[in-house]
Amino acid sequence: MTGKVTERKISERSCVACRAKHRRMELLRFVRADGAVVLDDSTRLPGRGAWLCRDLGCFDTAVSQGRLARALRTTIQEDKVATLREDVAVLLAEKE
Ligand SMILES: [Zn+2]
Repeated sequence: MTGKVTERKISERSCVACRAKHRRMELLRFVRADGAVVLDDSTRLPGRGAWLCRDLGCFDTAVSQGRLARALRTTIQEDKVATLREDVAVLLAEKE
């Protein structure tokens, strides 16, 4: 019995800012870990995650409209936002 293994698991996620669907590898993942929100570059950290386009515009939208915090069921301090934004900017610069 050799079943066809053609079913590919391409799981898509929606950006919490613009709602566009992308493959996981094309998105940024944020998780809430120990009460703090961190950028999960590996996309493998356990916990509740939120997905965003690899785009600072979407990050800004998600933060300014409270969508990132809501998706993670937490609040994000303003100084933490600045740190996260810096992390995103560095990551985007590295991957370009
Ligand atoms: Zn987006």
